[in-house]
Amino acid sequence: MVLADLPLSERDPSLAAMIRRENDLEASTLRMIPSENYASRAVQEAAGSVLANKYSEGYARKRYYEGQEIIDEVEELAISRVKALFGAEHVNVQPYSGSPANLAVYYAFCNPGDPIMGLALSAGGHLTHGHGVSITGKFFKSIPYGVRRSDHRIDMDEVRSLAKEHKPKLIWAGTTAYPRAVDWNAFREIADEVGAILAADISHISGLVVAGEHASPVGIADIVTSTTHKTFRGPRGGMIMCKQQHAAAIDKAVFPGLQGGPHNANTAGIAVAALEASTPEFKAYAKQVVENAKVLASTLAELGYAIVTGGTDNHLVLVDLTPKNVTGKVGAKALDKAGIVGNYNTVPFDPRKPFDPSGIRLGTPALTSRGFGREEMLQVARWIDQVLVAPTDEAVQARVRNEVAELCKKFPAPGIAV
Ligand SMILES: *Cc1c(COP(=O)(O)O)cnc(C)c1O
Repeated sequence: MVLADLPLSERDPSLAAMIRRENDLEASTLRMIPSENYASRAVQEAAGSVLANKYSEGYARKRYYEGQEIIDEVEELAISRVKALFGAEHVNVQPYSGSPANLAVYYAFCNPGDPIMGLALSAGGHLTHGHGVSITGKFFKSIPYGVRRSDHRIDMDEVRSLAKEHKPKLIWAGTTAYPRAVDWNAFREIADEVGAILAADISHISGLVVAGEHASPVGIADIVTSTTHKTFRGPRGGMIMCKQQHAAAIDKAVFPGLQGGPHNANTAGIAVAALEASTPEFKAYAKQVVENAKVLASTLAELGYAIVTGGTDNHLVLVDLTPKNVTGKVGAKALDKAGIVGNYNTVPFDPRKPFDPSGIRLGTPALTSRGFGREEMLQVARWIDQVLVAPTDEAVQARVRNEVAELCKKFPAPGIAV
């Protein structure tokens, strides 16, 4: 057998062992990072296919390389499926991920130094919406808006007054650690009042949008960006939807503006994910994602936890651990030892530093993908509480970890062979 034909387990046994261990970890733990999920076996097959071997700069039927007849078909299939799913006029599936998709929007509409607005990271926004450590905060004049002190909801009055004062070129609407619905129409009104481009970033919630569990910004925002690997449950990647009038600007910004050749295997994975997202099963999954998050939020609230905004409309719950005298980092690490994997997170107006903030962020997409419903979420909430009330008790962590693994066996993780 020639070297190139060796299976990974023989060619690189130590790396193969790492992947096997990650496989087992994902199968036997509760994956509650809200941006994570389980891509299906079919999505993984497409994303790991020979399509990754190809170079195909340009767009379908307008490539700079020969040999593209199949790649063109694949990209057109992905685009037509995403268009149909979201009702979008124009779709670009080439961005390498969510952050490059957002950069393309800046490149299409802004010049360096232009004023732009987005939800502050500390209020649940994304780095790429103008945060200071991000290139988007360095190259553009970022004017962040926040949430209200009273109820921790996005403060649309503040958005309006800042927009009128600073006349931004671009306004981002979209969140990464915010448990409530975003009012696209309210953002549209403000963008119109000041002549700004409105970009909706639905990276976290695109799967919920497809299923009608969150209102769609398509047709309201000028541009809609998304990752493809969060609630959408596809391969890692990004996509941009827009009105026809912006199609040329967006396409040019992605290629040749920002990227070289597209990741064709990921494009194929997006096509499969879009097919899966068009099924009744996906709709049921998305509905259950939200129901599960509501059960988690209300049960933790009954157990004495402070839930940011008092609950959730989407797939995630932001928990302020202050009433329990545990910090976010200590809590997240204790939960991780118990097989419950989330992340520590700032809460609005957090008096603590981002590296050890007051809260944790927990999501339900991955658990829902493996079939968890109300009963399981009640159990998950009880386990979370048992670990957090005694965050240094290793016996509790070991016991919960075993119980978690037992429950996981009853709900096999999609796309993972054990
Ligand atoms: C995850 C996320 C991104 C970035 O996606 P990456 O694929 O990690 O680059 C952008 N915007 C929002 C709102 C996100 O949640």
